[in-house]
Amino acid sequence: MKKIPLLDLKRSWEEIKEEVYKGWEEVFSTMKVLNGKYLQEFEKNWAEYLGVKYAFGCSCGTSALLMALIACGIEKGDEVLLQTNAFIADLEAIHWVGATPVLVEVDPNTFGPHLEDLYQKVTPKTKALLLVHMYGHPAEMDEIIKFCEKYGIILIEDASHAHGATYKGKKVGSFGKVGCFSCGPVKNLNCIGDGGVVVTDDDEVAFKIKFLRVHGQVEKNHFHFFGFNSRLDELQAVILNVRLKTLDQKNEKRRKIAKKYYEGLSDIKNLTLPPLDPDYKQSVYHRYVIRTPYRDELVTFLKERGIGTGYYYPIPLHLQKSYLTFYKNSISFPVAEKLAKESVAIPMYPELTDEEIEYIITCIRDFYKFKILI
Ligand SMILES: *Cc1c(COP(=O)(O)O)cnc(C)c1O
Repeated sequence: MKKIPLLDLKRSWEEIKEEVYKGWEEVFSTMKVLNGKYLQEFEKNWAEYLGVKYAFGCSCGTSALLMALIACGIEKGDEVLLQTNAFIADLEAIHWVGATPVLVEVDPNTFGPHLEDLYQKVTPKTKALLLVHMYGHPAEMDEIIKFCEKYGIILIEDASHAHGATYKGKKVGSFGKVGCFSCGPVKNLNCIGDGGVVVTDDDEVAFKIKFLRVHGQVEKNHFHFFGFNSRLDELQAVILNVRLKTLDQKNEKRRKIAKKYYEGLSDIKNLTLPPLDPDYKQSVYHRYVIRTPYRDELVTFLKERGIGTGYYYPIPLHLQKSYLTFYKNSISFPVAEKLAKESVAIPMYPELTDEEIEYIITCIRDFYKFKILI
């Protein structure tokens, strides 16, 4: 039987390992493992790539979010808007700065926050919107920015699914006051281990983030404010520099795969595919998430045929125990709840072969042909 895992990281490693080993050799020979030239190179390259003034590597996406919120001055008493289909790290970051998360419904077309619900949830305490470009699909930025400007709300982007995605030619992560990226192992731009990066054009925010990563140590032995230890080490920076060179090419490959899935599956009834991009947006298909009322049966069927799948995410934030225990806020979001029940990710990585894509399409078609319609 063929085996097509949901994600296969070994394939891209084969492509980069020689160049990575060369960089590592140098790191090991000098033992300059932190704050070295590879980090500086990555920060410069990533800022240039996104078209922003500053980029700061850090230890992971979760810490990127936390530092972004702190650097924007968000604190106890403030409310932060967040779509309920986001990752738990988004909610945690809001929680740990002491602010109150205000969850909002999901727009089923973009998987971003539902615009009408955003307007409804604004109060005089609303300080920021934490926006996640889910699955690599850029949110509708014109509308989001109009909303933020109307109420003087700070926009913080979590672009951890969306390295390289564009909206009207501008890279996501560069719209907000701060942009956060995880570079964890499964992301489009990925370390082999944990890593993250924060970007901004704002000098004051940049200053804060630069030193939040190192305990607020602005001068040697002088700690100007409380921070953390959150650094991106040289071994990971070597990898990110190598991977960045082919990021656009790899994202293009993902879009081609998405197009193939679309051509192969879009006529099936009771199967909703991710939207194809309108001409002003470029998604990077971090995850290819399809929707069907027969989700769990489809997963079993595909598993029997060697195809891996995954749920992102099966329980929305407003139904998580951690949220309910702390905020005791029983709300319901029918769209997000339906999406959580019906969504499943199928394999999506640039190294998938045409044959594998064909096989996946055939298996999904067979499921509908033999299991559902008879
Ligand atoms: C992965 C991810 C994070 C957290 O990043 P880590 O590097 O794992 O800490 C945050 N937000 C989103 C949307 C993610 O996908």
